[in-house]
Amino acid sequence: MIRPILTATLALALAACGGSNRSANLDAATSGMPPATAQPVSAVISSKSAKQLFGYEATASEQRSEPLGFYSKGCAAGNVQLPETGPTWQAMRLSRNRNWAQPITVDFIQDLSRFAAQQPGWAGLYVGDLSQPKGGPMLTGHASHQIGLDADIWMLPPQRLNLSTAERESISSISMRRTRGAYVNSSWTQQHHEILKRAASDPRVERIFVFPGAKVQMCDDETGDRAYLRKIRPWYGHHYHFHVRLSCPEGATNCVAQDPVPPGDGCADARAWQNNILNPPPPDPNAPAPTPKRDLTLADLPAQCSGVLASR
Ligand SMILES: [Zn+2]
Repeated sequence: MIRPILTATLALALAACGGSNRSANLDAATSGMPPATAQPVSAVISSKSAKQLFGYEATASEQRSEPLGFYSKGCAAGNVQLPETGPTWQAMRLSRNRNWAQPITVDFIQDLSRFAAQQPGWAGLYVGDLSQPKGGPMLTGHASHQIGLDADIWMLPPQRLNLSTAERESISSISMRRTRGAYVNSSWTQQHHEILKRAASDPRVERIFVFPGAKVQMCDDETGDRAYLRKIRPWYGHHYHFHVRLSCPEGATNCVAQDPVPPGDGCADARAWQNNILNPPPPDPNAPAPTPKRDLTLADLPAQCSGVLASR
């Protein structure tokens, strides 16, 4: 009778201890460390592609945890590692080494995974990309996820949390979308709604990106308090996973906040987007040609990012 409780308690204790001294999910893990400061860099280095500099870093900076810059133009001091496996989560695609983030993000994921594990059919969460060990731009994939405050959560309900490293490379998430994202498909469940609702209701969360059909479905299905819907933002892609973005933590003065989401539940906007998918407007002949994006250089990032790179 008592064994399951003991096992769960032990598992929680082990998760709290983590695999190394840098995987503890507390700000205290780095509070005794020096803050990130700018380091002198040569003109040659500062003009180098930032993704080349950050993309090969294997471990976090030995600095006080701090997000530096903006979600799509910054880096992260003192990231900690989400343990590869916990009682209610597994980090996926370990070869990418992107299960690093600010302590507040790791805390949030663990909290959300405990909620998810209470949902029928969900053993917890499969967690996709967080950030690189030192944050910064990535060689492949996202434009954001640079300051340790973004997290991708898989839509696939975990059936078990003992996936091997190899399985975590080969298993894919599942798409939730139908009709090019205008609607959810039959894989969408009430549990997806509940988990997204819980995430959006968390005061640490700034916004969540998900495909338009999911937002519209949540607008249709919500019968209770609708305030949280404001934070659920329709966006391209995001039908295999949803993307949680945390606000700049209190006191993080070098973290650049995003413009706040517009007031209201955003459901009319989501429906307009849905309608555009179903009835695409004709292309605007006067639309300016898209300007190709230039790679960020180290000089584009906050000056303290040179100190993050230099820290071992
Ligand atoms: Zn993402």
